[in-house]
Amino acid sequence: MEMNFNVIASGSSGNCYFIDNNGHFIFVDAGATLTSIKKALGSKAAEKGKQVSLFITHEHTDHISGILPLISCFSPKVYTSKGTAYSLMEKGVSPDIIFTIDANITYEFTDFTVMPFNTIHDAVQPFGFKFDFGSKILSIATDFGVITDEIYKSIEDSNVLMVESNYEEELLKKNRKYPEYLKRRILSKEGHLSNKDAFYLLGELSRNNLKRCFLGHVSENNNDYNILEKYADASLNMFNVETSVLRQKKSKVFHI
Ligand SMILES: [Zn+2]
Ligand SMILES: [Zn+2]
Repeated sequence: MEMNFNVIASGSSGNCYFIDNNGHFIFVDAGATLTSIKKALGSKAAEKGKQVSLFITHEHTDHISGILPLISCFSPKVYTSKGTAYSLMEKGVSPDIIFTIDANITYEFTDFTVMPFNTIHDAVQPFGFKFDFGSKILSIATDFGVITDEIYKSIEDSNVLMVESNYEEELLKKNRKYPEYLKRRILSKEGHLSNKDAFYLLGELSRNNLKRCFLGHVSENNNDYNILEKYADASLNMFNVETSVLRQKKSKVFHI
């Protein structure tokens, strides 16, 4: 069964994903303005969903900048780690609508399950999420500097993967506008994932069930869409994984 995967925003300055699963609206992260969310949802925005769930990976601004307007418009239940929950409360999210969840436990919703997994990143308690919709397993793995065994094991049965492909190492190292400490942060285990590492991960997962991939959370300063498109072509040719490169300011609906 085909589903729609709506990328409302993906990149260093904002991240927000949306799936309508039989009328259950699922948002992952809230790093987009309400205007852009409504525009991306089109007529669905007025429906507001039978149920609305918002899953938050971590508290960095590019993932939660639009959380309060999203909450007032769609009234979601918010699911996240305990650590991130505290940060959201500090930002003004009511504790009444926050439900804390734990890594490596599968939570059942009406028509799908979700399993959070730990990532390594310079945030309080960051998560990635694996959704099982029955016909399809979709993982969202973003904002981590290193592919740990836990990440790999959590998502190894995915059919569809949205993975961070943040920077091209050479471009980051050569970037004179970036101070050394920032380069070190990005390159560190708690930083972001390089194109090469993302490509390695999707190659490994292609030996299992992976058929569709999205390269996202692309840096505006340390990456190059021509290089990314080459990785996408290579992943189709080498691994038979159809791969799309996500662009920051272009919301897009993909059939998965
Ligand atoms: Zn981010
Ligand atoms: Zn982050």
